[in-house]
Amino acid sequence: MTAKFTIKGITDATDTCECCGTRIKRAVALMPLDVDGNEFGEVTFYGTTCAGKALGRKTAWITNQATAAQREREAEVERAREWLAAYGPVEFGSTSEKRRVFCTERGNTLREGESVSRVVAGLLATARLTLAAAY
Ligand SMILES: [Zn+2]
Repeated sequence: MTAKFTIKGITDATDTCECCGTRIKRAVALMPLDVDGNEFGEVTFYGTTCAGKALGRKTAWITNQATAAQREREAEVERAREWLAAYGPVEFGSTSEKRRVFCTERGNTLREGESVSRVVAGLLATARLTLAAAY
């Protein structure tokens, strides 16, 4: 079957299942998918039972997937914060300042033809998107 959602994580930030209205201890964050499998719309929060029904999976599978997705999400957020802390201060700085942080301090290498300004802008944009996403 085609999944209508992708699992983004598990949270105790809400105590109501948005599917059936039951009070729940932890909610699975589900991102709706369109027919092509692209994420669209907003994350909804279901209890593990309703998430299992929505995805045609057992509750234990849902919990495992959601826990793994949550760990991944937390790692992404941590990385995003790190990028902002490192590159935020030189965002409007000179190319040589950006190069100092990107190459010298953080040990990255620019690929052939790559501009450090573009790479730093890209990292900051990615980091901001990550932190702006609810999930
Ligand atoms: Zn429910």
